[in-house]
Amino acid sequence: MTDLNKPSRRQFLKVGGAALVALPIIAMSGNALAAKNESVRAALQYQTSPKDGKQCSTCQNYQAATKGCTLYPGDTEIVPTGYCSGYIAKK
Ligand code: SF4
Repeated sequence: MTDLNKPSRRQFLKVGGAALVALPIIAMSGNALAAKNESVRAALQYQTSPKDGKQCSTCQNYQAATKGCTLYPGDTEIVPTGYCSGYIAKK
């Protein structure tokens, strides 16, 4: 095997450096994907705490897998303990 086929120390450092730069960007992009539908939140008086024992986790509209709600298009930050006027108890 010739030295031409072996990755050089310089190449190794370039790849490692690029990975170190990419990690925070990847981590931040996860947060960038989270979104709130502020107009629907206001219209339905969304709150992050339960009301009279009613909360998102017991509501038919809650989408636990995506942290969403069928009444809130694009919103990915609906918390299980939240509540709004669109609440419908699960059967
Ligand atoms: S309708 Fe309201 S209470 Fe029900 S899951 Fe959606 S945000 Fe929560």
